[in-house]
Amino acid sequence: MADLPKSADVVIIGGGVHGASAAFHFARKKAGRILLIEKKFIASGPTGRSTALVRQFYAMDFFTRSACAAHTIFRNWKDVVGGDGDPGFQKVGLLALAGPERAEHLRRNALRAAELGAGVELISPAEVRALVPAMNVDDLALASYEADSGYADPSSTANALVNRARELGATIVQYRGVDRIRAAGGKVVGVTSEGVDVDAPVVLNCAGLYANRLLAPLGIEVAIKPERHQMCFFRRPAGFGVHPAVADSLLMTYMRPEHGDLTIHGKLSYDEIVDPDAYNEGADADQIVRNAELIAERFPVMEHGLAMGGYSGLYDATPDHHPVLGAIPEYAGLYADFGWSGHGFKHSPFTGDLMSDLILHGKAKDFDLTPFRWTRFRENDLVPSARWAADPHPKHRL
Ligand SMILES: Cc1cc2nc3c(=O)[nH]c(=O)nc-3n(C[C@H](O)[C@H](O)[C@H](O)COP(=O)(O)OP(=O)(O)OC[C@H]3O[C@@H](n4cnc5c(N)ncnc54)[C@H](O)[C@@H]3O)c2cc1C
Repeated sequence: MADLPKSADVVIIGGGVHGASAAFHFARKKAGRILLIEKKFIASGPTGRSTALVRQFYAMDFFTRSACAAHTIFRNWKDVVGGDGDPGFQKVGLLALAGPERAEHLRRNALRAAELGAGVELISPAEVRALVPAMNVDDLALASYEADSGYADPSSTANALVNRARELGATIVQYRGVDRIRAAGGKVVGVTSEGVDVDAPVVLNCAGLYANRLLAPLGIEVAIKPERHQMCFFRRPAGFGVHPAVADSLLMTYMRPEHGDLTIHGKLSYDEIVDPDAYNEGADADQIVRNAELIAERFPVMEHGLAMGGYSGLYDATPDHHPVLGAIPEYAGLYADFGWSGHGFKHSPFTGDLMSDLILHGKAKDFDLTPFRWTRFRENDLVPSARWAADPHPKHRL
């Protein structure tokens, strides 16, 4: 176990997949003494409970480009990241389904994403049926299909990034919390971890659900609501075979295959806000029953499936369900990468590259992070929904 150094060039708070990615990219860029501090163990927070869908297409250009860049890393991990780790990427394909009301939005958004390089095509209900014969397509008007998308193993991904960062010289300290971010004279001077000061001119806050608690004492107020999301497992009956990941805007559910003949299934949105330090980590009996009904609506054969329980994970939900990214200009040297609100896994291998470029070179490649500044909340300049079949919005072209 690494000891806590007295100083560093960059301190990253949090060993979820975003902190892990930042540590890797800083180390890869030989950015000096990189220190990641995680209060528990790597991927012990929401990252470890992620469904970890890896897809390429959003309604908003920023996210489509970021997801595509990350997808390329997932698919070329050995060449880009190297080391012995493996993110466990499984290319099972991904379908997004729309009914008549949302079909035109899905069409417009998918065509735009394809223009930007996303591997997505539009297919008819009959083509969906040919691809997945077990699916009920009666209510569908259109679907998008990403043949090269799928899912990964979130814990393996974070650990592969951290282990590679360590090989490249980063220091990873686990089971040690950061008490506070230290600042003086309008700039960051380090952190205090369990009573011990670490001096550093740069601090990157990747503390997820707890990121706001570290910022509030500095006068930076961002609301983060811990949203409880219940995921349920169902055993597919014999003869069903495997299926692609499915995002279903009609039933407001999503699912993907899990190991063996299991499918993991959940709702696209939940509204239960909980205490992240004391919440029910299992799935409620009535939610499992409801999810069993929903999965059988889409796959009638699942009436003969077996409910196998479930678990809950938390989204670090900001007011617009989008992350806070970039500099916190009130304090030179303070940066944010948190609040991904349930869609941050797929971007993570690339986000560390963006953030490290911003911090080292003053520019996040050709990505504009302005829409994701923390002050947008108090300015009421929120980022719109960027889901597959979202309504058009001028910010989608950012
Ligand atoms: C059920 C579920 C399903 C999901 N499905 C998907 C999906 O299909 N696709 C997708 O793209 N995304 C998905 N997500 C979202 C995705 O998993 C998250 O956006 C992502 O994992 C967030 O990573 P993170 O590193 O920002 O935060 P976290 O995983 O929250 O990591 C933050 C870390 O910081 C540590 N920490 C906090 N405070 C301190 C402190 N003071 N000192 C030291 N360490 C601290 C925590 O212990 C934690 O390990 C899902 C999430 C959940 C819960």
